[in-house]
Amino acid sequence: MLIDSHAHLEMKEFDSDREEVIKRAGSEGVDFIVTVGTNLKLSLKAVALADQYENIYATVGVHPHDAAKTEKNTLEALKELAGAHRQKVVAYGEIGLDFFRDISPREKQLEIFGRQLELAGELNLPVIIHDREAHKQTLETVKASGIRRGVFHCFSGDYEMAKECLDLGFYISIPGVVTFDKAKTVQDVAQRLPLSSMLLETDAPYLTPVPHRGKRNEPSFIIHTAKKVAEIKKIPWEEVAQVTARNTMNLFGIKVSPVN
Ligand SMILES: [Zn+2]
Repeated sequence: MLIDSHAHLEMKEFDSDREEVIKRAGSEGVDFIVTVGTNLKLSLKAVALADQYENIYATVGVHPHDAAKTEKNTLEALKELAGAHRQKVVAYGEIGLDFFRDISPREKQLEIFGRQLELAGELNLPVIIHDREAHKQTLETVKASGIRRGVFHCFSGDYEMAKECLDLGFYISIPGVVTFDKAKTVQDVAQRLPLSSMLLETDAPYLTPVPHRGKRNEPSFIIHTAKKVAEIKKIPWEEVAQVTARNTMNLFGIKVSPVN
């Protein structure tokens, strides 16, 4: 079994061939894809895709880049959307802090992050955390929220930080970046982290793994991340796929039996 725990199939990068991308994932052995909302418009699109395809699940939320454009009624609409699609909306996110690109002011990012953590608690949904160059503030905000169920997506911290996340009850998601020669920190995390705490993700259309670098990323490429983690851990890739898939299903409460 193999799952892509984090992709963005609703994004415009897939407008011309979304159907083929989804089919290709299925034929390459990807049982489920979780497609992740990043603002209201794209969350609506993600939920529509999840309604349309049995093997797709969705999440809703506002990415830190969009924090500045977020109004009270945006969050109310997201809450309503998640509530109305309980079977297919499996998490709240991605939410968090991005102090690398700083597209929204940091104050605003912190405010919207905090409010959405609260909202996830009200909805009783696990959270998907985005943290780029904001490790300290992200951990502080999560700790203060009391939320103890979720995943740090596209993990970019070191092993010490990963341990802190695990202590909080969170999973760590390993992206295709782990296949890059220079990505020593995430490779170290993948080696030392128990498989039982790990998810795999593509973050498609971004972060294309080796050997497809330079192309748009897509869920069928998740296999390369599974194989790289297996090589690092010196275990069969099927075991990596199986355990991380089970972790994903546990976290997101996905109960149906897989198609393949
Ligand atoms: Zn993402």
